[in-house]
Amino acid sequence: MTEVIRHEVPIAIRALKTANIYEIRNGSHILVDTGMSPASLDFLMERGVDLSQIDLIILTHLHVDHIGGAQAIRDKYGTPIAIGRNDAERIQRIKDNKDEFGEFLSRQLGINGTPHEILSKIVDRHSVLDNMSLYHEIDIDKKLDGGETFGNDVEILNNPGHSPGSISIHLKENGSLFTGDHLLPGITPNISFYDEESDMLGLYITSLKETLKLDAKMIYPGHRDPFAHGNQRINEILDHHRERLNEILSVTGDWSTAFEVASRIRWSRGRTLDAMNLMEMNFAIGEAISHIRYLDSSGYVDKKENNGVVMYRALTANGKHRLIL
Ligand SMILES: [Zn+2]
Repeated sequence: MTEVIRHEVPIAIRALKTANIYEIRNGSHILVDTGMSPASLDFLMERGVDLSQIDLIILTHLHVDHIGGAQAIRDKYGTPIAIGRNDAERIQRIKDNKDEFGEFLSRQLGINGTPHEILSKIVDRHSVLDNMSLYHEIDIDKKLDGGETFGNDVEILNNPGHSPGSISIHLKENGSLFTGDHLLPGITPNISFYDEESDMLGLYITSLKETLKLDAKMIYPGHRDPFAHGNQRINEILDHHRERLNEILSVTGDWSTAFEVASRIRWSRGRTLDAMNLMEMNFAIGEAISHIRYLDSSGYVDKKENNGVVMYRALTANGKHRLIL
């Protein structure tokens, strides 16, 4: 009989407030995610968790609000840390070149048309840059490819999209799925960019369709409460992206940068880009980039480069060409 215990730990991201850490006990004792800082350890110990008994830490993905306590547990008890292979490799790139992330972010925002004044403020105040030490210090022991099993019924599934190496943990016996930020209730997981080319939204849509096949009975997300009816939530998220892709096509009649696209469309709750704070703007520009790259790799837009800036144009003007996912 597999036992699942949820710990909702406070994090320093105002929009989210908390992140979930789960214990899975099925003969072995697995910790899924670790909050945003080493303070998560104290939080778990106050709740009576005996961290010395944890056999393995599995990180659902590389974001700072999921990996923060992992290395502190490893340092103290030698507990091995596992994460998806592509996320492990992204972390290694950051370790190898400490300026890489900031340079990459600047370059990507720049070639996608973000005005310099906004770009420099986003890069200056980016939450990942504030938490860089988490990446520099973490030691990854296992790189997960999907298909691995731990204990009786724990299976790793590869779900790239929200990050390049996002994984889910499937309890096959009772149909439970620990999704990290691959599936969340009430929040559409952010889909952004991690390199110059990859179609992250395409990967995400493929992963959502794979998850649909599992027909999971219970979803244990990285934030907020666990929920049933996972397939209903997947279909809502697919609908959301379909609508956003169609809206983007409808505002890309003339050659436009991803930043211009971001400033023309309505974001959640009807908001516009200029009403957002810098972090929200960063997310919105990232979303615009991932959506327009999807449209590009699916043949819905043309792409050209002009003075170091990438521009796109809908192949059928005025969004008349409705797209089907
Ligand atoms: Zn995340």
